Amino acid sequence: MVRTSSASAGIQESSEEKKRVIGYIYPHFPVELVLAHGLVPSLISTNPETQGAFENSLQTFACGYVRNLFSRRVRGELSSLSGLVFPSNTCDSLQNAGDIWRYRFPEDVVFKVTYPVSDYGKASVKFLAEELKILSDRIEREFGVPFSNESFKAAVEMINGFRESLQMIYSARVIMPSIITYHQLMELTRQFLTEPTRESLDEINRHIAGSLGPLSTDIINDFRELKQMMQRMRVEREFDVERDHPRIAMVGGMTDPQLISQVLHELGEGERFSLVIDLLSFGFKCVFSPQIQFDSDPFVEMAKNILSTPKEPTQEGLTNRLIFLRETLVNLKIEGLIILEQSFCDPDEFEAPSLERVAKEESIPVVRLPIDPELSDQERVKLRLQSFLENLLELV
Ligand code: SF4
Repeated sequence: MVRTSSASAGIQESSEEKKRVIGYIYPHFPVELVLAHGLVPSLISTNPETQGAFENSLQTFACGYVRNLFSRRVRGELSSLSGLVFPSNTCDSLQNAGDIWRYRFPEDVVFKVTYPVSDYGKASVKFLAEELKILSDRIEREFGVPFSNESFKAAVEMINGFRESLQMIYSARVIMPSIITYHQLMELTRQFLTEPTRESLDEINRHIAGSLGPLSTDIINDFRELKQMMQRMRVEREFDVERDHPRIAMVGGMTDPQLISQVLHELGEGERFSLVIDLLSFGFKCVFSPQIQFDSDPFVEMAKNILSTPKEPTQEGLTNRLIFLRETLVNLKIEGLIILEQSFCDPDEFEAPSLERVAKEESIPVVRLPIDPELSDQERVKLRLQSFLENLLELV
């Protein structure tokens, strides 16, 4: 249960020593805002051991991701949270889940951020900045902790540091996947998303120093150039890449990268094949969020930042995403593509056929894999991936 806490109800004394944790479930969340209030932002992911059961307060179109979150709440797995932030205007499932959660669990502290339906430039920035200010005011009312400009500055520096470091290691292993396995990279990324602290940033930087330190300046410059391209979601030139094993890419929406990386690890990732890049919401798209600037009002800067990240395909359309995918496949010499489709996810279903078409047009073997957050049919998923990989190993 999300712990009830409000200024009027009295904040639990026991939490004074321990920092309060605010859960979020949408990748484009202003973690800096929560840190600026002295709270801990933590990505709440699905739990593969919790079956997303029937929940009679949810509509039939609720996706597996949302069902799993509800089940986690019912089983008391979210009891360490002081509040939970739901997004609005992102997909029907999440929109609906936030509204229902309030009625189903009235004791929980539930916040909402409404994102602009589309990007209308300055008007959208203004709208989202106001939404973020409303969230900030509400957090202050609930917990009695004001937004601190000083803490905001420190938070931005730390989060920018995370993004800079993770983007570097992400880009480096696209060119040279032997630097670090996908599974290890996802562990570092998850650490950042679960609790962004100086210690976890230091750990990432130690990895970078150990992996990239011995490499030549020319190679490092290539990594940097690719990083800049991926920040713009363009890969405009070919790169000389390591080809010790077949090079695989993986696309999809809100599938948990750490969970799928475990399956890939068991199938021989890093030894028989290399998963060189993912374009998942909680992988690449979280890491490659742009840096926040200090040019103006913090809420405006956070809004600008969120609006410049890649959003749902149903919001931003397909054109640029497909150009980016094609350039990635061709210029980074990808030899196989895995498309993950979260069950009952509209954005995934909207995008998957076009992703498949791009891979086929480039004569790259592709597999579309329906998946649920629990990997409840893990053996089927493994078998399908295994047969895809066996075929690929024969081809390349
Ligand atoms: S998995 Fe798809 S439908 Fe479910 S919350 Fe994510 S984007 Fe929405």
